[in-house]
Amino acid sequence: MTRTVVLASNNAKKLAELQRILAPLVPDVQVLGLSDVADYPEPAETEPTFEGNALIKARACLEATGLPSLADDSGLCVDALNGMPGVLSARWSGVPRSEGGDEANNRLLLSQLSEVPPERRTATFVAVVAFCTPDGQEHVVRGEMPGRILPAEQGECGFGYDPLFAADGYDVSTAELAPSEKDAISHRGRALTQVAPLVARALHG
Ligand code: IMP
Repeated sequence: MTRTVVLASNNAKKLAELQRILAPLVPDVQVLGLSDVADYPEPAETEPTFEGNALIKARACLEATGLPSLADDSGLCVDALNGMPGVLSARWSGVPRSEGGDEANNRLLLSQLSEVPPERRTATFVAVVAFCTPDGQEHVVRGEMPGRILPAEQGECGFGYDPLFAADGYDVSTAELAPSEKDAISHRGRALTQVAPLVARALHG
């Protein structure tokens, strides 16, 4: 029997990553995105931490849909920028994603690091996934992928800052990895691997 969870996100690429990662780990799971459920006012991400914002999003989704709800709050923390853009990663440049925000964010990142030598361009992708269920369970897990910021964009896969990020041990960007290769090492893959058994238990008893 198919069991349904909702991911509180409008990001089609994030949803595709999550469906890909959860499908083999949670039998018969159907993951809906926000475009698959009735509209509700999405809460502002007002918390200073990934954990706080992921919980805000998952709780609002549960309240609006009544379905078990997942939310991912993620971002890129650059050491030479004191952890920025962090929780502001999606909207760092101020340009909405629908108007080329990812490209504008990448240009801003390159300009901020223009004077920073290769050995100081270390960074970490962080993903925190919150999972809230109708019976009141709340779970929060974190995954990280350490790496470095490249001097120029490379690759066409993935989304966001992927063309500028090379994971530790890799010479290519995460936008040059096959989706399954990225999932195996990514912050989101690591967080979802932890949350999958919790989802399976909540959906299948
Ligand atoms: P939010 O979690 O929707 O607030 O936004 C996360 C933002 O962090 C995305 O819009 C991207 O800019 C960035 N980000 C998070 N995960 C990834 C990833 O796997 N690749 C590239 N960029 C990412």
